[in-house]
Amino acid sequence: ARTLRLILGDQLDAGHHWFKTNDVNVTYVIAELHQEAHYTTHHIQKICGFFAAMRRFAMALKQANFNVVYLTLDDTSNDKSLPELIQRLCHEYQCDCFEYQRPDEYRLAIQLADMVLMHTRVHCIESEHFFLPFEEISTYFTKNKHITMEHFYRKMRKRFNILMNGDFPEGGKWNFDNENRKKLKKADLTDIPAPLLFDYDIRDIVQRIKKHKIATLGQLQHPFIWPTSRAEAHQLLHYFCRYLLPNFGKFQDTMTANSAHKWSLYHSRLSFALNTKILSPSEVIRSAVAAYKNHPSTISIAQIEGFVRQILGWREYIRAVYWVNMPDYRTYNTLNAKRDLPPQFWTGQTKMRCLQHAITQSLEYAYAHHIQRLMITGNFCLLTGIHPDQVDNWYLGIYIDAIEWVEMPNTRGMTQFADNGIVATKPYAASGNYVNKMSDYCGDCHYNVKEKTTETACPLNSLYWHFMITHRARFATNPRIGMVYRNWDKQDEITKQHTLTRAQYYLDNISSL
Ligand code: FAD
Repeated sequence: ARTLRLILGDQLDAGHHWFKTNDVNVTYVIAELHQEAHYTTHHIQKICGFFAAMRRFAMALKQANFNVVYLTLDDTSNDKSLPELIQRLCHEYQCDCFEYQRPDEYRLAIQLADMVLMHTRVHCIESEHFFLPFEEISTYFTKNKHITMEHFYRKMRKRFNILMNGDFPEGGKWNFDNENRKKLKKADLTDIPAPLLFDYDIRDIVQRIKKHKIATLGQLQHPFIWPTSRAEAHQLLHYFCRYLLPNFGKFQDTMTANSAHKWSLYHSRLSFALNTKILSPSEVIRSAVAAYKNHPSTISIAQIEGFVRQILGWREYIRAVYWVNMPDYRTYNTLNAKRDLPPQFWTGQTKMRCLQHAITQSLEYAYAHHIQRLMITGNFCLLTGIHPDQVDNWYLGIYIDAIEWVEMPNTRGMTQFADNGIVATKPYAASGNYVNKMSDYCGDCHYNVKEKTTETACPLNSLYWHFMITHRARFATNPRIGMVYRNWDKQDEITKQHTLTRAQYYLDNISSL
């Protein structure tokens, strides 16, 4: 009896129990699939990253004497879909058993669950990647219901005994946000460490992408800078623990235009290695906590807690929201947003300096850090009422780490409030004041962040009020927002009218902002 095992591009987990023993009757398949390259328009670096990581994973398995079939786009160009390929391979390798790990994307989970194979048994097994077992998601989460991230996170801390002293949180508090989230001052700028970059040769992959006419967006970096092997991912993790973790939480929410390393700052850039499962979340947390224990004078509790919260808290939370709410989640559009995403999102050509920085670096590196995604591009789409399908599509394509399970609740939920508050209890809507507080973008922007109604007023200022007033009936009863409306009501009628007129002008001319 022979078994075929499928390894998807985001299942490159050398620690999975599949690889604990080597059975000569098992053949592993890793394939560059046309359906995966086409389901959205991806950033060129994203496709290169996945294919390079898949190839290197296959090579590592071969070196360890596993039977591995690696198929390129050339080899799979006649297979119309993943099930067709599986059917062909089962026949070719005479397998009477097919096994796959549970996909993290709804699209693939359904496609594989619906697959019918002749004379072949099919087994779906766990991927073993996340802290929270899949079947327990519904004991913590309910469809269409907001669950507070903070509560979920504390339960995870206790359950997995991370940063705990018995029943109490290490450092005496669960949350150190107040000590974090500082703005970078001029003197801090020269201290930002250079990001650790790699240099894997991807020329043949690029050629294949071109040969098969796969549409892509964004720019290529030669050589390839993202980690695509386990050794590189480990290097990046250790580099992070040593040089970036000491300031991770402190500068987590800040943005700057004035450093050569403005695109990476103190962020780990581990999301690609995590989402492809080259690294497991538990080993990332273990390494970071070990660094904190070994270097208490450089890494404070506020820094390590801030980092653990992202991975044990947010990442697990977002994945649970996705699964408990799919497939309906992808259709939610609570605020009835309808506008098209303007062309600047594909060119970076805009007079708004914040937007220009966030988009340009996304096109250049397939990367933007969280606050850029949330409070710059996300906030702009929220305030201007861009259709969430288009917002999702852009985020899903452009980022190296974008896989639907993590992209969609962050985008449609956290930034666009399209899920009616399943993720966020209030919309993350901000005027120029927030951008000015957390960044140095506004200084030499074409627009003036202090103005609201003039011809050069920062568009975010009037758009913010336009958004809040448009959705007043929905948000006025929210105790976290009520104050905003009282501030609006205090303004004189002329100012209010001019503000809304300016916003309408910007909306009507959104492509030339
Ligand atoms: P760091 O700042 O170093 O954080 C460490 C790790 O924490 C990340 O690698 C990630 O695994 C985890 N993390 C932090 N915040 C989140 C979060 N909100 N959700 C899930 N994990 C989190 N993350 C993705 O991995 N893929 C996406 O497609 C994606 N799309 C996003 C879209 C929007 C609109 C927003 C607001 C956020 C999105 N995020 C996404 C979450 C977050 O922005 C990225 O995980 C992070 O920027 C990746 O960079 P990093 O590895 O340097 O993260």
